[in-house]
Amino acid sequence: MWTQQKSFAPHDTGTLYLVPTPIGNLADMTFRAVETLRSVDLIAAEDTRNTQKLLNHFEIATKQISFHEHNTQARIPELLAKLQAGASIAQVSDAGMPSISDPGKELVAAAVTAGIPVVPLPGANAATTALIASGLAPQPFMFYGFLPRKASEQRAALEALADQEQTILFYESPYRLAKTLTAMAEAFGPERQAVLARELTKKFEEFDRGSLAELATWAAENARGEFVVMVAPAAPQAPVRSTVPLADQVAARVATGEKPTAAIKAVAKANGLKKQDVYNAYHGLEEEDRDL
Ligand code: SAM
Repeated sequence: MWTQQKSFAPHDTGTLYLVPTPIGNLADMTFRAVETLRSVDLIAAEDTRNTQKLLNHFEIATKQISFHEHNTQARIPELLAKLQAGASIAQVSDAGMPSISDPGKELVAAAVTAGIPVVPLPGANAATTALIASGLAPQPFMFYGFLPRKASEQRAALEALADQEQTILFYESPYRLAKTLTAMAEAFGPERQAVLARELTKKFEEFDRGSLAELATWAAENARGEFVVMVAPAAPQAPVRSTVPLADQVAARVATGEKPTAAIKAVAKANGLKKQDVYNAYHGLEEEDRDL
């Protein structure tokens, strides 16, 4: 069903604001984030005691309600009722962007379904902050977040990611970092380059760059603080040339009903050749395709 949200048009309900909070440096709180937390009727916080420290620092007197992974389902109807009655609510997590490896997505989905405007504020986020200083290709990139903890599930997840030709971003706790890097070295190869961004925005911020094998060894002794793990893209796979003549490969596809242009394109891609070369072979415009 097609729907449209005009975030700042007048509406009968309240608004759900998604407010990022600092990931270690209070100065990263934006003016708009402070203003929003001051002006809403209620703040739904992952940990109200943690958020109270932030509110005290910025002299914000707004009331809080707890909203975390263990009370999400129970809280959603209560928060939706308040929003429908016209109250505005800001959702915050302990650090960074709500919903990014943090509580929030179910509330957002419920608000969207109920036709309540959901307004995101830009702000601190560990993954993208790490990425822009990593020196790795910033796009395309994939944000994975936390890997499964169970070894067999983690291995399967990593194997499924091994051929991704994009930078992959993970979150990991310092207690599991060395083990996870070792598992990555097994799945991606020990020489795959990676970057660890440690304690971003804090006094001991650092970037550790090297192969997965080197970083796993380093992490076994030095994993303290918070980390973003960034893995360089897989090298593109060299296409394997088939021994079947190109014209026959195209003909086989055409025989299954594929259009010749599509078949030529597919065969060119599969063999790492230009379309024109396959076209010529298929239409007999060259003596033989053996030199291709
Ligand atoms: N919502 C947050 C965000 O937008 O980045 C992420 C919350 S997630 C529960 C916490 C994980 O984010 C940590 O285990 C770590 O991997 C990463 N992280 C958070 N703050 C960080 C920091 N200052 N430096 C490096 N990594 C950080």
